[in-house]
This record gives sequence, structure tokens and C-alpha cells, in this order.
Amino acid sequence: MARTRYGRSNDVDEYEQRAGTRQRPTGKGRVKELRPPDPDTLIEGIVVRARGHHYDVLVRDTVTTHPGYGTEIRMCEVRGRLLQEKRMDTLVAVGDTVWISHYGADKGHIERVDERRSVLSRQRPYTNVPAEDVILANPDQVVVVFAATQPEPHLRMLDRFLVVAAANKLPAVICINKIELVDEAATRDLFQVYTTIGYPVLYVSAETGIGLDDLRGVLLDRISVFTGPSGVGKSSLLNAVQPGLNLPIGALRESLQKGQHTTRAAHLFALALGESTFVADTPGIRELGLYDIEPDELGFFFLEFLDYLPDCRYPNCTHDHEPDCAVRAAVEAGAIAQARYDSYIRLLRGEE
Ligand code: GDP
Ligand code: ZN
Repeated sequence: MARTRYGRSNDVDEYEQRAGTRQRPTGKGRVKELRPPDPDTLIEGIVVRARGHHYDVLVRDTVTTHPGYGTEIRMCEVRGRLLQEKRMDTLVAVGDTVWISHYGADKGHIERVDERRSVLSRQRPYTNVPAEDVILANPDQVVVVFAATQPEPHLRMLDRFLVVAAANKLPAVICINKIELVDEAATRDLFQVYTTIGYPVLYVSAETGIGLDDLRGVLLDRISVFTGPSGVGKSSLLNAVQPGLNLPIGALRESLQKGQHTTRAAHLFALALGESTFVADTPGIRELGLYDIEPDELGFFFLEFLDYLPDCRYPNCTHDHEPDCAVRAAVEAGAIAQARYDSYIRLLRGEE
């Protein structure tokens, strides 16, 4: 098997070092477990689902003339030596690029995990040590889907999604579906404020196919968190982007019931676009990331506020009641949209 862009040789050195320091002549089987797996037999994959202590790993095909992710999924356990690593965040998460040794027809061991480029996470509840609960590893962007109608777009909720994306340092794309049901010009007016801030806004229809090529272009070779309220057409859009995916309608569902516990497990769908296009279904994203935002930090996640923040008189200004607030001055001058400022104040006060 060919060497890859991940610089496998270094990993071998590291492995031998670790194994060397840990090798002890105690108990049978101990040494056997620590023998490094032959690095040339390790195969690359991506974790697409977590099931308790097992992970479904989609294997990357590096052999054929069309490299990318095929359909081979192996059920993997985490190798003992990895479990000994002391980490403050989740050891293996959906979205991680992993290297596995395989056994049997469909099983494997996760031998190592590549460094994460990004994470969608939240503070682990009930701990005061900085431990990150990684919900998704390596997301590239958040695609927030709303409907132009049925249901009517709820812009406060959109703002909340955008804050979560920004708090996780992820770019966001806004996707407005069911565009064939409305007067497109009026809908574009409604969302113009987001275009002005700098968010890409796509106008699409799963029903008629309008805008689907733009959506494919946005998704191509990235891991996208696909989110939005239920009923806006997220599953329909994915089915339309890739006929044959056969996602049950309503499969990607954001729980709207307040106070209901949503499962935190993410799940990746591979799309047959490019080499590695994935869409993540992460229930409950609306609630993520807002726990640990301090009141004087929230303004940083309203991207159009950024230019004004340095000019507030108080560095910990919450842009609410403080004198000489540059954000409020910008709202009064019409440079920041009143509706966005109102959203900000609602979130600041913990209102829906
Ligand atoms: P999800 O909950 O966001 O996954 O939404 P679904 O994909 O389950 O779609 C909800 C409903 O909206 C279904 O009845 C779909 O048939 C319908 N729907 C989805 N996309 C469109 C669209 O572009 N136009 C119209 N008119 N209806 C759509
Ligand atoms: Zn201020």
C-alpha cells in the first residue's frame, strides 16, 4: 500500500517509542498487545457513527483509480494503547480520520487518530475541569437550512444557529429551501441582511431542483453540519442532491420540543460527490455552544458587530445599557440591522 500524505513514517517512530517505554515482561499477552501493528497494513478511514464502545469506520479507497470513500464499513474498537492516552477531550469522535488494523470480514481496531482540524463541541456537563465533549470532529462548515415558507422562516432562530456556528469557529452557509412556493424577490429582500453581513445565502428547491448545483458546490469535499428546524426539507434536499441516497423524509430532525433531551450522537452521511463529501446530522445543535458563552463574549458571534466592538467605552461592554456603546451607536446609525440587534439582546437575556 502506498504511503500517504499523512506522513506515516513518523507515526511508526512514535509508536515504537511508546511501545518501548511501556513494554514490561509481566503477564502473558501483555507484550503481544504492545507489538506495533505493521504500519503498511493500517488503513485509513473516517468514523461515521459511534455505537457505545464501537465505531463504524468508512474505509478510504486508495487503490482504485477513483480514490475516495467507498462503501466498506468496518466496526472498530479502540486499541488498548490509545485508551491509555490522557486526554481532556473525546478520544474518538464521529468525523475523526483514523488508521485501523483490520481483522475478519468487517472488523478492525482503531490504532491512531489524526489531529482534528476543527470540532463541534460542548462543555461536558457537571464538570468544572476543561473537558470537551466533542460532538463532531473536523467539521468544515455549518449549513443552516430554512424554508422560504411552510414553515415560515424564524429569523431569531436563524440567528441562534449562526451564533452556535461562530462560537465553534465554523463558517456558516444559509440555505433557503422551497423557493418555488414564494415570490423569490421578496424572500431575497428578507435575507439580504445576511448577505450584507457576509454569509453566503443559497435559494433552492428540493422539489424543482432550483439551486441544487450551487448546494452541491458548497458541499463538495467538505464535512458539513446540516441543520435547521424540522420540516424545512433537509432530508428532501439531500435526497435531491444525490438521487438514490434514500434518506427517509424527516430523517434529519432537529428536536424543537423544549426541555426534551436530544441525543448527542452525530452521524455522517457520505455523498457520492467528489472524493470526500460528508453531511453530518447532529441533533440539538441549536442548544450547543451557548452554555459557556459569557455575556461580554456574545457580541463577537454577531459578525457585523466585530468592527465596532473595539470602540465601546468598556472592554466588557454587553451593548445593552452601557454608555458610549459603539454597537448601539451603529444600530442607531443604521449600520447594524435593528432586527439583528434585537436577536442579540434576546440571546443575551436568555430568551428564545
Ligand atoms: P426535514 O424535517 O427538514 O428533513 O424536512 P423533510 O425533508 O422531511 O421535508 C418536510 C416536508 O417538506 C415534506 O413534506 C417535503 O415533501 C416538503 N418539501 C421539502 N422540500 C420541498 C421543496 O423544495 N418544495 C416544497 N414545496 N416542499 C418541499
Ligand atoms: Zn458596546
